[in-house]
Amino acid sequence: MGRTVSVLLPLAVDGPYTYKVPAGLDLAPGDIVRVPLGPREMIGAVWDDPVDPSVGHNRLRAVLHRYDSPPLDASLRRFVDWVANYTLSQRGMVLRMVLRAPDALEPPRAVPALRLAGKAPDRVTTARQRVLDALAGGEPMPKSAVAGFAAVSSSVVNGLVEQGVLEAVMLPPPPLTLPPEPDHARPTFDPGQADAAALLRASVDEAAFSVSLIDGVTGSGKTEVYFEALAETLRMGKQALVLLPEIALTVDFLDRFARRFGHRPAEWHSEMPARLRERVWRGVATGEVQAVVGARSALFLPFRKLGLVVVDEEHDTAYKQEEGVIYNARDMAVVRGHLGGFPVVLASATPSIESRVNADQGRYRRIVLSVRYAAAKLPEIQPIDLRVDAPERGQFLAPSLVAAIGETIANKGQALLFLNRRGYAPLTLCRTCGHRFQCPNCSTWLVDHRFRGQLVCHHCGHTEHRPDQCPVCDAEDSLVACGPGVERVAEEVANRFPEARRIVLSSDLLGGVKKMREEFDAIRNGAADIIIGTQLVAKGHNFPLLALVGVVDADLGLAHGDPRAAERTFQLLAQVTGRAGRAGGESRALLQTYAPEHPVIAAIASGDREAFYAREIEARRLAVLPPFGRLAGIIVSAADRATSYGYAMALRRTAPESGPVMVLGPSEAPLAVLRGRHRFRLLVQAPRAVDLQGFLRDWLAEAPAVRGSLRVQVDIDPQSF
Ligand code: ADP
Ligand code: ZN
Repeated sequence: MGRTVSVLLPLAVDGPYTYKVPAGLDLAPGDIVRVPLGPREMIGAVWDDPVDPSVGHNRLRAVLHRYDSPPLDASLRRFVDWVANYTLSQRGMVLRMVLRAPDALEPPRAVPALRLAGKAPDRVTTARQRVLDALAGGEPMPKSAVAGFAAVSSSVVNGLVEQGVLEAVMLPPPPLTLPPEPDHARPTFDPGQADAAALLRASVDEAAFSVSLIDGVTGSGKTEVYFEALAETLRMGKQALVLLPEIALTVDFLDRFARRFGHRPAEWHSEMPARLRERVWRGVATGEVQAVVGARSALFLPFRKLGLVVVDEEHDTAYKQEEGVIYNARDMAVVRGHLGGFPVVLASATPSIESRVNADQGRYRRIVLSVRYAAAKLPEIQPIDLRVDAPERGQFLAPSLVAAIGETIANKGQALLFLNRRGYAPLTLCRTCGHRFQCPNCSTWLVDHRFRGQLVCHHCGHTEHRPDQCPVCDAEDSLVACGPGVERVAEEVANRFPEARRIVLSSDLLGGVKKMREEFDAIRNGAADIIIGTQLVAKGHNFPLLALVGVVDADLGLAHGDPRAAERTFQLLAQVTGRAGRAGGESRALLQTYAPEHPVIAAIASGDREAFYAREIEARRLAVLPPFGRLAGIIVSAADRATSYGYAMALRRTAPESGPVMVLGPSEAPLAVLRGRHRFRLLVQAPRAVDLQGFLRDWLAEAPAVRGSLRVQVDIDPQSF
């Protein structure tokens, strides 16, 4: 009987397939192989599951090829299994997140190059002499570069090769990144920072699983401090990964990393060109790349000797992937640390309630940085009560905010106006007939993007031209924009401060990384007086000259019924007001609100973070909500509402009777219609001690068949509840 092996394929299947191992090939778990599947060939990984004995050996097909690529190590394989099990996804779909760069599986090719062979040409022309001069140093030069460098035609070069004057050699490909130097530019820490850095270094030295939560006010030096953990990891010859919630933040981060470590880290995110992704993937797998900064998907890279993961801005909702395998990269980073036996560092000025409770209960170590570096002061924060200090009709900035902006720029300070809403106006309405422009695919209004002259759905991307007359009643000049978006605030600022230099920062307006870098540089160099931005500016950035932050609508996030809204709003307001006053000097933040007495607004204005956390944690405890209880959403969607609702009801009826587990709903999902699909959600709530995944698995195994356009998705730890 011949040998067989289990191979997991990156498909929507949970179990591996069984293949024959051809003679002469040795395979071990983790090896990356090519196998036949039906009429196709696929790349997969040898998995640890015992082979399925029920399949007759002679019906099996054979593995075609083993790639010359480092195998996926055991801790990564257990991570794939773990994530699949936790999120109720198929293991193949999780493996797919690992095998993201299939062409990286073979070693990068050597580059053909030329060098002098030591023989003189039969005749020396000026062109030939230029080639000889170019290579006189003795170093081979890539073949493609010689003609250009010597400024001759390629026939001159070819002629010298034919004569044997130049010889061809193969050069190894140039390194992707230079190794970061742990001690390149170490800062001098203040005492609080030094203690924090020592704790983190010790956790790296232990080389065992631990979680540290750096809970430090904005500008306290969290990044400098976790760089010490990173430096220690590099000193030990291990790899480090830093996760950031947004690609927009990596631009700044790469420069900052280079200042501290002498060279840039490798980057990883979805917008990188495929060629570069392949090289990074392989560099990570071979261990050539020592430091990676990336988006959440970097957690699935095949590190060879990962020794640290840092999750910066750990509270950020962008760590949650909402499609495909639905997971939270912050939580999965902790799991990866646990399986890999290395420390994980979470950092935030406004930790998530989950992490804060984990720290309070002793599962994580909380490291507090309570003061800003270099005696920089936090801004003085005041609410502006819009009921009293009302903006003029059709305007959105209160008189006192306008006055503060005027004063700030008169004193050569910078002002930032923050509104977490892209576009010009969130709703367009016909004054004559009341028609509202709605997305044809989603249950949302179309947002007026006047800079582009379009109405856009922010959920599915549906775009239409903004008409001049109402499409329903044909009235002319009857369409009005309702409410402000960031573009409309920018317009008001332009009218009020025509002399000021203004920059509008919104993710839909950024013209790529280069433009973004220029705009951030302009802000830092003082080439802008007023910045108007969406949440893109709220996160992580250092704007040293900022003296005033104005929050145009502090109540925006509080309108939802969702219990998490308070946490989100608190985090966003603390982050955005924390942009001010980083370089010392007096600074202020003004919050426009209709509810200055709301506990979230009051906590921000008084600077009493602890009051907010205590109150919010107690509310969650009483309601048995996360992290005191477990929660999952089951989202049922279909092309039509009746099918979706009918299935959700039927599913509900088949829920197992289980004392402590509550099944709520179905109710309309947070987005009731998305991309033309009608969505209903069942919420499952259970005490912590319950095996929620087991409950769901048993239930869904018995669920009515899913047919036609129906889809059922499980969302463990939903963002909204
Ligand atoms: P946080 O991440 O907590 O907001 P940062 O690490 O970005 O804080 O630090 C805020 C600013 O202070 C940055 O410009 C940083 O370079 C500077 N800084 C912090 N600590 C030090 C230090 N010990 N020495 C020099 N500069 C520091
Ligand atoms: Zn839409």
